[in-house]
Amino acid sequence: MRFIVAIDGTAGSGKGTIGRAISNHYNFKYLDTGLLYRAVAFNLRSFSCDLTRISKKNILQAIQAINKNILELKELRENEIGEIASLIATKPFVRANLLVYQRDFANQKGGAVLDGRDIGTVVCPDADVKIFVNATESVRAQRRFNQFKEQNFETSYNEVLANLRKRDTQDRTRQIAPMVPSKDALLLDSSAISVQESLEIIILRINTELKKITLNS
Ligand code: C5P
Repeated sequence: MRFIVAIDGTAGSGKGTIGRAISNHYNFKYLDTGLLYRAVAFNLRSFSCDLTRISKKNILQAIQAINKNILELKELRENEIGEIASLIATKPFVRANLLVYQRDFANQKGGAVLDGRDIGTVVCPDADVKIFVNATESVRAQRRFNQFKEQNFETSYNEVLANLRKRDTQDRTRQIAPMVPSKDALLLDSSAISVQESLEIIILRINTELKKITLNS
């Protein structure tokens, strides 16, 4: 069975936590697509190329150099890597070269959950369930700051807030694959509800769609 759950949303909205929990609940495979953009950013920074003038060759090298070890690096979570990721994510050549991998992942048998910014709109417009998660800026910044503190990252609440704001604006206003909810997405405001409550709402929606598939098969 092929079943795709697309979870998009703003930076720090909790879509990663939700995505992982949904994947565990249904035993679906999970892909954090933001990590791919972060890995490209990390590799480009390690090539020490001028980030304002990146060539297609640099981008291809950075994509080819992505591997499991890089995807597990703690540094990928840094604010600076997030900013570079958001910058390079405005480039059509980067997006086009990451698209095939994401689509292949989504279409594997057994179900898949992908989270990002353009999963429901561009990567998997035919996803079975689409969710767009958001929360107020202050709630998102506080959550992110708490996560950073737990992981001993050196940062401040204001730095985290500025990083989220900058990325959201860039992600929303870019020409290609901007961060917008798909028209058929379930909009979820996670500001005032717990992760468990968010999960209950999403599980209800997924179960309804899974039932339709079972009834039709
Ligand atoms: O999800 P995360 O915050 O780790 O993503 C880092 C950056 O990667 C985002 O700010 C965004 O610019 C970019 N991104 C994207 N499309 C995706 C996932 C992430 O443009 N599907």
